[in-house]
Amino acid sequence: MAIPNDHPRAQSLKIREQIIEGMHNNIVAEAGLIAHGRGEAFDYLIGEESPTYAIEQQDAAVALLLTAEKPVFSVNGNVTALCAAEVVEFSELLNVPIEINLFYRREERAKIVAEKLVESGAKNILGLDPEFQTIITELSHSRRIVDKRGIHSADVVFVPLEDGDRTMALRKMGKQVITVDLNPISRTSVWSNITIVNNIIRTIPEMISTAKELQKMNQKELLEIVNSFDNNKSLRESLEHISDRLDKLARVALDGLEKI
Ligand code: ATP
Ligand code: MG
Repeated sequence: MAIPNDHPRAQSLKIREQIIEGMHNNIVAEAGLIAHGRGEAFDYLIGEESPTYAIEQQDAAVALLLTAEKPVFSVNGNVTALCAAEVVEFSELLNVPIEINLFYRREERAKIVAEKLVESGAKNILGLDPEFQTIITELSHSRRIVDKRGIHSADVVFVPLEDGDRTMALRKMGKQVITVDLNPISRTSVWSNITIVNNIIRTIPEMISTAKELQKMNQKELLEIVNSFDNNKSLRESLEHISDRLDKLARVALDGLEKI
């Protein structure tokens, strides 16, 4: 569907179209549409721009990735449909491999997601070769398959838009988990070591710029950023941000929306 540029919500509608197209191309699972809708609702609440707390979360996440011994990016259908090129650029910049890890895994869909990532410039994708597949014992069925060279042996897993059960399983395996999740009270948000409460569309390009700056720092400086980050405190700030916005909205009443 063509979205008129002068539509007041053109940007949000274009992104929605990307997800729908991704579903028609078998990149996004049907449930991915519902997850996207939940994300949109929270993005409305945070104001559809990156708040200060999110910049701090992104800085801490980049610093952790730069100090990790064996980091990996775990990528699913929604992430691929929304920002494949940016994720590939970020992985090249940090020299971190991408692993395809789908909640609703079918080999055929994993291959289609891989093709989209390769089209976007990815060179080496993990998670496809049966020879290197192994399982996370905490999880059932196809959700437990991971790559020995990637998630299974990683110390830090960057896993945007993830499900709570899988985040908990990764933590129980001793991994440090970084996520991007617009819902600050999801199980994923609460269980991760660093939760970025922001839209992935804004987060990845911002993290690329941050990485170019933080790459100039030494390990000690980077570790200071990581160690001074407190995820509980940061999640509290994101909830306070939402609650402050709702308070303001309630005060000016809905006809004053533009004033905020
Ligand atoms: P959990 O399993 O962590 O308790 P959930 O079951 O509510 O959460 P899932 O569908 O498992 O949610 O995970 C998807 C998450 O991704 C949702 O919390 C949703 O808000 C978030 N999300 C969706 N789209 C985006 C986006 N574009 N950017 C950031 N987060 C998003
Ligand atoms: Mg879930």
